[in-house]
Amino acid sequence: MSVLVVAEHVRGELRPVTLELISAAKSLGGPVEVAVIAKEPSAFTDAVNVEGVDEILAVSVDQDEFENDVHQSVVEQLISERSPRVVLLGFTVNAMGYGPALAARLGTGFASDVIAVREEGGELVAERSFYGAKVNGEVDFPGHDRVVLLLRPTTWPPAEGAGSATVTAASVAARASRARHQGWVEVQAGDVDITTADFLLSVGRGIGDKENLEQFQELADAMGATLSSSRPLVDAGWMPTARQVGQSGKTVKPKVYLALGISGAVQHLAGMKTSGTIIAVNTDPEAAIFNVAHYGAVADLFEVAEELEKLY
Ligand SMILES: Cc1cc2nc3c(=O)[nH]c(=O)nc-3n(C[C@H](O)[C@H](O)[C@H](O)COP(=O)(O)OP(=O)(O)OC[C@H]3O[C@@H](n4cnc5c(N)ncnc54)[C@H](O)[C@@H]3O)c2cc1C
Repeated sequence: MSVLVVAEHVRGELRPVTLELISAAKSLGGPVEVAVIAKEPSAFTDAVNVEGVDEILAVSVDQDEFENDVHQSVVEQLISERSPRVVLLGFTVNAMGYGPALAARLGTGFASDVIAVREEGGELVAERSFYGAKVNGEVDFPGHDRVVLLLRPTTWPPAEGAGSATVTAASVAARASRARHQGWVEVQAGDVDITTADFLLSVGRGIGDKENLEQFQELADAMGATLSSSRPLVDAGWMPTARQVGQSGKTVKPKVYLALGISGAVQHLAGMKTSGTIIAVNTDPEAAIFNVAHYGAVADLFEVAEELEKLY
């Protein structure tokens, strides 16, 4: 199946989701085209020239940063010129801004937050979650010869290996726009980006009390980990929103995810189950977190924390 991937970049950096989209595109057989829409597309063409990419469409636009309307109009024109069977975007804030509008305008099939995709008898089948991630279901697109999919980040491995794609300068006139990027607001001091941490120590309601948080912050510091949490701690105002892992929080994929007193609700698992090594501590042997954990201890988290404190 011919696939058009739209590269994502922010502040001059290619977003990792782009290489994940390319992996998914390759699995559909190809040919794979990657659109790089940027003021200076050449800044990203080497990074997306990985194995399996057949052609890179370098589209130069006036805007320094991502703009919904610019992306929508450029991708719309690329689709009409290139006629891909499938268009892959990240399930990201940027692509959520224009992907659904693009699909509606072109009357294509559409699915968001897709976690698996395959070709079956010449038709596309996508898998996504429903009912707050309680159920996974398959979606097909009868009557649609083109489908736009938003793929969940960190679900596919990043594509790698040197590629030999041709780079084509695509001349596409972007539609004039209304909203404009004004600037970046830096994360407030004290907040961290848990999505880039290699080691997350994540605490849940099992820690019992707000007063106990300090102990785990100190433990995380001593272990070289970043402290994150499940949602109830954020809802209670104990932890900042930026530290919440899960469906309505951040999707993380650290090398190590140490979960203390987290039950493993589907909404939590949705944000961390692809972590490299998951270690869970819970007094309840039936806790769902053990279904995704590589290592688990049915134990009191405070006792485990005490032992860890002795080690660090
Ligand atoms: C639309 C929607 C979106 C949501 N989004 C998110 C989200 O993004 N992230 C998220 O986390 N949740 C989310 N939730 C909430 C989710 O359903 C759960 O309620 C939540 O994840 C539970 O958090 P928890 O595991 O910390 O608490 P609990 O489910 O209360 O689990 C606490 C665990 O601690 C264990 N425990 C207690 N004491 C100890 C001890 N001393 N030692 C060891 N273990 C102990 C218990 O056995 C229990 O398993 C969402 C819900 C909805 C409906």
